[in-house]
Amino acid sequence: MQVDTQPIWYDHYPKQIPHSISYEKKALHLFLKDTMITYPNHRAINFYGNTWTFKQLWQDVVTFSHGLKEMGVQKGDRVAIMLPNLPQTVISYYAVLMTGGIVVQTNPLYMERELKHQLIDSGAKVIICLDDLFPRVMKVKKETSLEKIVVTSIQEALPFPKKVLYPLTQWKEKKIKVDVEVDDQHIFSFQKMLRKKRTDEVNVEINGEEDIALLQYTGGTTGVAKGVMLTHENLGANTTQCLHWMYELDEGKEKILAVLPFFHVYGMTVSMNLSIMHAAELIILPKFEPEEVMKTIEKQNITIFPGAPTMYVGLLNHKKLKHYDLSSIRACISGSAPLPLEVQQQFEKVTGGKLVEGYGLTEASPVTHCNLIWGKRKEGSIGIPWPDTEAAIYSSEEDRLLEAGEIGELIVRGPQVMKGYWNRPEETAVTLKGDWLFTGDMAYMDEDGYFYIADRKKDMIIAGGFNIYPREIEEVLYEHEAVQEAVVIGVPDPYRGETVKAFIVPTKERKVTEEELNAFCRSRLAAYKVPRLYEFRTELPKTSVGKILKRVLVEEEKKKTSFP
Ligand code: AMP
Repeated sequence: MQVDTQPIWYDHYPKQIPHSISYEKKALHLFLKDTMITYPNHRAINFYGNTWTFKQLWQDVVTFSHGLKEMGVQKGDRVAIMLPNLPQTVISYYAVLMTGGIVVQTNPLYMERELKHQLIDSGAKVIICLDDLFPRVMKVKKETSLEKIVVTSIQEALPFPKKVLYPLTQWKEKKIKVDVEVDDQHIFSFQKMLRKKRTDEVNVEINGEEDIALLQYTGGTTGVAKGVMLTHENLGANTTQCLHWMYELDEGKEKILAVLPFFHVYGMTVSMNLSIMHAAELIILPKFEPEEVMKTIEKQNITIFPGAPTMYVGLLNHKKLKHYDLSSIRACISGSAPLPLEVQQQFEKVTGGKLVEGYGLTEASPVTHCNLIWGKRKEGSIGIPWPDTEAAIYSSEEDRLLEAGEIGELIVRGPQVMKGYWNRPEETAVTLKGDWLFTGDMAYMDEDGYFYIADRKKDMIIAGGFNIYPREIEEVLYEHEAVQEAVVIGVPDPYRGETVKAFIVPTKERKVTEEELNAFCRSRLAAYKVPRLYEFRTELPKTSVGKILKRVLVEEEKKKTSFP
C-alpha cells in the first residue's frame, strides 16, 4: 500500500519530537538495569509507604529470576501472572523476561472458564498468583499444562503496621486451609523465593526484534480471547515513543500513579514500563477508588496519572473533589475509549495539568495516536500518529486508501505493531497484511492530518438502511448536563433490522426523563440517528480499565428479543 512519505501530521510536531527515533532493540529488563545503574538510590516503587529503590528492585528481580530458573523456566516458556497491581507484579514481570520466558498477563477477575481457556491456549507452565486466587487456579490446574504455582499476597507487600492489621487469608506460606493437595515440588511461596538474595543476573540471549516478551490476551470487547504476541522491541519502542511525546517530563523526577491495571497492555506501557525507563517513582494502587486516588495524588504529589475516561469522570463527579489538592498533576494521557470534551476541560481546570486523548489497541502495544500534550489538539480527535507510526484509512469494498474526510478502516504500521496472534495464523493473516495492522476501527482523517474514530467496525448500527455510528450519538448525550455516562448500541428490530438504544447513567444531582433526552437529541441529530429506546441505570458494565462493555449490553438485548 502506497502512503505519503512525508505525512501532513508531521507539520504539527513541535521541534522536540522527532519524526523518527532510533530504538534500542534490547531485552526489556535491560532498560531496568540501565536505570538501576544511573539512579540506584532513586525510589522505584511505593506501595502504601513500603518502598523499593531501583537497586532493591533490580536485586529482587534478579533473585526471583533465579528462583524461576531453578524451577525449570527456560527461554520461550510461558509464565502466567495473575495479580492485581502490586510490587510483586513488577518484580515477576521483569524476572520472567530475564529468564527469557514469555509473560502471560492474566486478569485476576477471570473466573474458571476464562482462566482455563487462557492457560490452555498459552500453554503456560508456571503461574504466579494471589493467595485469594489460589483455589481457583487449583481447580483448573489438572486440565491445563500448569506445572508450578507461585503464591503471593497483598499483605506481604505492605509496610509494617498495615501488614499486621491486614486480614489474614488462607495462604500463609503453605498452611493453606483449602481443600487441595499442597506439596513442595509444585507450590512455591513468592516471599520465600526472595529470601536468598542473588546479585548475579540470569543471562539468556534475547533477540529483542524476534523474541516474544508478552502474550497479551485481547477480546474484552471483541469476542474470543486471543494471545497477542508482543516482542521486547514492540514494548520498548512504544514506551520510547511515549517518552518522546511527553518531552517536557524530567527524567528521575516524575511520580506516576499506577492505577490502570498492569495486566492490560496500556497500564503496562504507560505506567510500569514508562516509570522504569524514565526513572520515575511508581505509586501503586491495586484498585480504582476515586477518593483513594485523590488522596494519593495530594499526598504523593503525583505528576502523571494515565487513565481511562471513566476514571477521570469518577474523580470529577466525586462529592469530595474540592477537598483535595490535585495541582501536582502535569500530564495525563487518556486512552481506551473516547474522552468527552467536557471531561477533559473540567479535569484540566481542576488540576491545572494537561489531559489529552490518545488511541491504541492491544495489537499495537498499544498506543498509535495521541493529541499533542503541549501543542495542537482537536476536539473529538484521537490526535496524530506517534513517531515512526504510519496510518491510513482503507476501504475494503473499493480496495483503496481513502481521502481526507472519508470514513473507512484505520490501518497502522510501526515498530509497536505485534508479531501476530499466538497459534492463530489465520486470524493473524486477516489482521496483519504486509506489516499493516487492520484495527477494525472505522475512522477518518481531516485535511490537517488529525484522526477521528467514527466507531468500531462491529459497532456500526444499520437501521432501516442507514449506517449509524454510536459515538456521534454518545457525544451528544454527554453534552446533556444530567448525563454522567452514556452508551449507545443497536438492538434487534423486526422492522428496521436494528434500532438505536441508549443506556444512560444520570448524574446524582439532576433527574432526567426520556422525553427530555429525546428532544435534546432531536435538536442535534438527523432523525434516523435519534435513539428510539432509553434505559436508565445506576452503573454500566465495564472492563478492568474502565471501558464500557458494549458487548454485554448487546448480548442482554439479544436475549430479550424473541424473533430470530
Ligand atoms: P484494547 O485492545 O482492549 O486496548 O481495545 C482497543 C480498542 O479500544 C480500539 O480498537 C478502539 O476500538 C478502542 N479505543 C481505544 N482508544 C480509543 C479512543 N480514544 N476512542 C475510541 N475508541 C478507542
